[in-house]
Amino acid sequence: MYEIIDGKKLAGEMRARLAVDVNSFKIDNGRQIGLAVVLVGNDNASQVYVRNKIKACGEVGIKSFAYYLPSETTQEQLEELLKALASDNDVDGILVQLPLPKHLNTDKALKLIPVEKDVDGFSEQNIGRLATNEECLVACTPNGVMKMLESKNISVRGKKAVVVGRSNIVGRPMALLLLNADATVTVCHSKTENLKKECREADILVAAIGKAKFITADMVKEGAVVIDVGMNRDESGKLCGDVDFDNVKERCSFITPVPGGVGPMTITMLMYNTYVAATRREKR
Ligand code: NDP
Repeated sequence: MYEIIDGKKLAGEMRARLAVDVNSFKIDNGRQIGLAVVLVGNDNASQVYVRNKIKACGEVGIKSFAYYLPSETTQEQLEELLKALASDNDVDGILVQLPLPKHLNTDKALKLIPVEKDVDGFSEQNIGRLATNEECLVACTPNGVMKMLESKNISVRGKKAVVVGRSNIVGRPMALLLLNADATVTVCHSKTENLKKECREADILVAAIGKAKFITADMVKEGAVVIDVGMNRDESGKLCGDVDFDNVKERCSFITPVPGGVGPMTITMLMYNTYVAATRREKR
């Protein structure tokens, strides 16, 4: 019998705890924690993501500074704003909503975010620290997956974990987190030979591919923990994951649904990272 890991419920519980911690921070330090969110252009999906992030800030008591810049913003203008935010003491975290319009240099812009304010955990320094298992700010989605495993006391140590997907924002940091937690990790991607065999060996299988219902029951070991990061649309336009949930679930000990699984954890982890960034900054 499988158990669902309910990301929506866990995210709600985490946000309630965070609201208490954020309030204590305010009392102790005489100031509110602040997150700056920068959006360039009018991409619809990005606007929704930014709105949700700002709403989450309000829920946990983090002050949000939203910057809506027009599509024609120049590299210089963007960099000027990021430099100002970098030295602004009221700002604990800086997030640039990606993707940026094509005429802007994303790498150059992101490098202006100081490592201690990089709440997305995308900077080279934070990724490097994660790779060497040092204190860092960790990318929100994979960090949320680790919290989901912890919430069910799922032990990772010594287990065989297979991550399908190697993107910089999900697959790679996911593999590093699992490795840091003492799993034996295999990373699969589009050039992997015999993907089915690799997946079938997984005690913990993380799918971060971006292909609807790609992981089928014959790719899953009996009793595996299956984490579905994917967010796709099926033939009828319904939101679905990378895992063929209905057919895979019976083989699992634990499985995350889509929607209501990893998705709700991502923004919660952004709030968590902002809180962590603020407390570390105050300690310095
Ligand atoms: P990317 O497109 O950047 O990466 C996809 C990865 O999957 C690549 O490494 C690619 O391999 C691999 N892949 C593609 N096709 C296959 C295949 N046939 N067999 C094996 N591997 C394959 O996607 P992201 O990492 O950004 O996102 C992955 C999914 O997670 C998406 O559905 C996205 O919407 C979702 N997502 C969800 C979030 C959440 O909050 N829940 C947050 C971020 C993403 P290769 O490197 O060889 O091309």
